[in-house]
Amino acid sequence: MADKAKIYIIDVTNRDGVQTSRICLSKLEKTMINLYLNEMGIFQSEFGFPVTRHETNYLNANLELARKDALSPIRLGGWLRATTDDVRNAFKLVPHLKHVNLSISTSEQMILHKFKGKLDHRSVIKEMTEAVKEADKLGAESIGVNAEDASRTKMDYLIEFAQAAKEAGADRIRYCDTLGYDTPFTIYERIKLLAEKVLLPVEIHCHNDLGLVVANSLAGAKAALDTGLDAYINTCVNGMGERAGNADLVSVILAIKYGSGMQSYSLDEKINLKMTWKISKYASYAFGVPIPINQPGVGANAFAHESGIHADGALKDRRNYELYDFEELGRGEPEIIETGRKITAGEYSGIKGFRNVYEKLEVVFHDDQEATRVLELVRYANVHNQKPLVDDELCFIAKYPDIARKIFTMSP
Ligand SMILES: [Zn+2]
Repeated sequence: MADKAKIYIIDVTNRDGVQTSRICLSKLEKTMINLYLNEMGIFQSEFGFPVTRHETNYLNANLELARKDALSPIRLGGWLRATTDDVRNAFKLVPHLKHVNLSISTSEQMILHKFKGKLDHRSVIKEMTEAVKEADKLGAESIGVNAEDASRTKMDYLIEFAQAAKEAGADRIRYCDTLGYDTPFTIYERIKLLAEKVLLPVEIHCHNDLGLVVANSLAGAKAALDTGLDAYINTCVNGMGERAGNADLVSVILAIKYGSGMQSYSLDEKINLKMTWKISKYASYAFGVPIPINQPGVGANAFAHESGIHADGALKDRRNYELYDFEELGRGEPEIIETGRKITAGEYSGIKGFRNVYEKLEVVFHDDQEATRVLELVRYANVHNQKPLVDDELCFIAKYPDIARKIFTMSP
């Protein structure tokens, strides 16, 4: 490896985040998350499920945005089961797909009690390697192989599985702590051994069932980097994700940048935290889940001081009680809230009020025809989101009307 090994972020909000119970995003909201992640310099967004039919238009439309450089340089990766049928279907439905993660369970528990005789240890490896080869043949530029329940998988088998993935052409092995079972001590040891034996970059996918998700993600990444290999940490905005959630995007970045002993490890230099405030607030609104008051970086109390000694100390020198600056996270700007008359654009808006809304956003339409066309799309977007649109959504629709139309379109 020529360059020093680095930590990259693969955000899975649009996959693990949306497959969570009681949590969902509209296709427009998923698109906005991709756009914000791109602005934040995130390496890859796992943007959805290529074989799920209601995702097809959204996925193709987002890949079109990528080709127009609106979603670039971020990579858009699809999540699939590691079967040749799913791989073929994925590339049929989403022909411009370039990046995939292929998933299959590897633990004793799941092979015995989920596959129930349909697959054994041998055939799990066979299915996976055939799927990798198929994805490669169909033009995938990068392939991650997911070992589901890796943390409960016997180490020898996990190494054999990853070795086979590498030989078949995989670029990364995703170590999934599917149940949040690992601790920082075990995940470090296991990933260190895996990395040393297989010499394949490692993706770390952790869950928060024991409250250890960020610590485990860092420990796993450290093990890969200590072996000289790149690490890819899976995150979700605001720590969403199945059950107790995945690693919070902002917490992971802050921990790598400011955690004790982490300074000798390189984080993808494209990442900037300026978008933090915006993406967290947007995701909270889109998911309908408030940001906890004590959330790292973005909680209402993250930079609040009240007790005499702390307030005095923070005022004398912010470094007395703050590890990082709120300005770095895009906080500190006043937010203007209209307290007088406000015209909104909704499902039943008319052209006059609509033009007033867009004038405030400084969006100019060439003629009435264009304005009427965008108004119609904004009405549909409101039906689609079932909540008032934010300014960035309104601007997006005006800028990319044809792509927006595709995103809203679903035909079962
Ligand atoms: Zn997961």
